[in-house]
Amino acid sequence: MIELREIRKELRRLTGLSFPPTEMEGWTELAKVLQRRCSTMNQVHQVLDRWLDTEENVPKPSQLGSLCADIAASDHPILPEPCDVCAPEGLWRYVERLDKTGEIVCCAARCTCARGCQLAAMDAKRAMEEAAKTRKQPVLMKAVRLEELG
Ligand SMILES: [Zn+2]
Repeated sequence: MIELREIRKELRRLTGLSFPPTEMEGWTELAKVLQRRCSTMNQVHQVLDRWLDTEENVPKPSQLGSLCADIAASDHPILPEPCDVCAPEGLWRYVERLDKTGEIVCCAARCTCARGCQLAAMDAKRAMEEAAKTRKQPVLMKAVRLEELG
């Protein structure tokens, strides 16, 4: 977990905005939201970047929470930092497998770290969406043909 102290330092970027919390506890609440939702300082940075791009007031904890959720659900989700195995790109790790003939082949696989798992989940989701698209196709063609028979 990221240290609250680190997050509070980053939160100073918001002090130029309007309506900042008047008590230290208010800032701490914001820091706690980020601590719960983000696994790296890089993510905290991205969330604050996004807020500073579009907003003029210091966020309420609930607003900050939903921004974290939005970013995580967007096309460019916040991914955990790559681990030692899949760094620096954080996309693949290389594993040796036996092919059908018993030869050792090197292939790329998603890493087993948090980042790799999230990428693998995105791969699976995309594959399911693709499969759903190709399943719909024949139904659509049939409907068109029936109309043509009219
Ligand atoms: Zn990894």
